[in-house]
Amino acid sequence: MKKIISVLIASALLSACTVVPESNRASTARSTAPASSGAVATRLPAPVAAHPQDRQCLAQLTDTGAQFVPVADAYLGEGCSTVGTVQLSALRSDATRLSLSNMGPVQCGVGAAFAAWARYGVDRAAQQILGSPLQRIETMGSYACRNVAGSSRRSAHATAGAIDIAAFVLEDGRRISVLQHWHGGSAAEKEFLRTVQRSACRRFATVLGPEYNAAHRDHFHLEGVMGDSSFCR
Ligand SMILES: [Zn+2]
Repeated sequence: MKKIISVLIASALLSACTVVPESNRASTARSTAPASSGAVATRLPAPVAAHPQDRQCLAQLTDTGAQFVPVADAYLGEGCSTVGTVQLSALRSDATRLSLSNMGPVQCGVGAAFAAWARYGVDRAAQQILGSPLQRIETMGSYACRNVAGSSRRSAHATAGAIDIAAFVLEDGRRISVLQHWHGGSAAEKEFLRTVQRSACRRFATVLGPEYNAAHRDHFHLEGVMGDSSFCR
């Protein structure tokens, strides 16, 4: 029964997203030029998920209980784009809604890995190690049209393929930040941060933290979806 309900929710979500075939998208885009007859210009279509793998990912994300809207694909030049992305506004833990800060568009698959990590990696570690459930995750953003720090190579952030995580706020009010607590926290706080980083390494392709370099002293960089192996530092 639960499965049926989630399928219904997923299909309701997808129909709300106005899924139209690729050929229709092109003709809709062409028809947005103002008509000389004075007719009202056609509204741009709602964000779409025309590809089966995108629809599958949106349904998967819906199943996690995340609150989000799909973002219209955009190619922004200079190797930067937001294709197949979503705007996440909240996630679910076992017991409650998890709020997020500073999130921009993120690739759907990375968003789904983030939702699962927040629930099964972070919230449960917070309860077990720190004795309080998770309430909020503070990010330093996801999409940013920029290079890897100190290089001429485009960052995964340039295609909304990564999320930077700065801190975790617990239900009891404690705020555990990578900057303050990775080195300076109590034994439990340090164990919590190392535990959540290790669990991220099981879900994301690349995970970088304070041990990697000075550019990551204040956040975890979570990039891509775990394939055969992950790069975890
Ligand atoms: Zn990053």
